[in-house]
Amino acid sequence: MSPRTGTQSLLQVRGLTKTFSGITAVNRLDLDVEAGSIVGLIGPNGSGKSTTIDCITGFTPADGGRVLFDGADVSRKSPEALAELGMVRTFQNVRIYEGMSVLDNLVVAARSLRRYPWWEQVVSSRRVSRLEHDLRQEALGHLDLVGIGKYADAPTGILSYGQRKLVAFAMCLMGKPKLIILDEPLAGVNPTVIRRISELIDELNGLGQTFLMIEHNVDFIMRHCAKVVVLEQGQLLTEGPPAAIRTDPRVLEAYLGDYAAHSVEALNA
Ligand code: ADP
Ligand code: MG
Repeated sequence: MSPRTGTQSLLQVRGLTKTFSGITAVNRLDLDVEAGSIVGLIGPNGSGKSTTIDCITGFTPADGGRVLFDGADVSRKSPEALAELGMVRTFQNVRIYEGMSVLDNLVVAARSLRRYPWWEQVVSSRRVSRLEHDLRQEALGHLDLVGIGKYADAPTGILSYGQRKLVAFAMCLMGKPKLIILDEPLAGVNPTVIRRISELIDELNGLGQTFLMIEHNVDFIMRHCAKVVVLEQGQLLTEGPPAAIRTDPRVLEAYLGDYAAHSVEALNA
């Protein structure tokens, strides 16, 4: 149960812990993502944000704690098994096949994100080609939605970094996700793509899509998220609505501590 709302959260993380050769990257972290919400995960560099979602999504084995998704304990599941259950993510650095067309990248993503019964492959070639046709139509729909439909047949390698991020976003949608986890969706992208990603998150959330996202652009997090979770040195520093987080002295300290020290040094130089 979610501690505040009393409703069952879509994602419940309890006591998540991960240590890398002596460094505790994530330390007994609790995290709830309520269905239909957008939750932001922020914190200074090295505070454990990426490790947290790597553990949640099965890309890194946690040392301790539990992850519950849609009511089931998924703590030891593989990324593929989690994707089949509807938990899909993007990476800080885009992972796509550059030599393949944009559309084919989405079709490949769908095959890895969804479970197809083995007999779909052998029962009838007509059925397979029907499935393929439907997948391509669906992929085209997602590419139009993210705003790069005209590049469907282009090799992905010709796209700008921001456009590739949109491809990665569309690839997520091929998994028919219940939860989309985004690791720094805005990093390295231009203002036009930032606007598109921003609109997309709102549009999809308006349709009920749940998001958990890490983003350095704090304004973006504050604008989109109902709840912001702040990490510091692998631990929960605080969580709450944007208005409370924005003015929390502990958050300002965690973020601005180093910066303030440098500024003072610079001023006094
Ligand atoms: P963030 O995403 O908040 O910047 P990370 O989760 O990447 O932080 O890192 C948290 C801490 O764990 C850092 O001290 C980082 O150096 C360490 N860390 C992350 N991944 C590894 C790894 N694969 N091996 C060793 N240390 C790691
Ligand atoms: Mg990171």
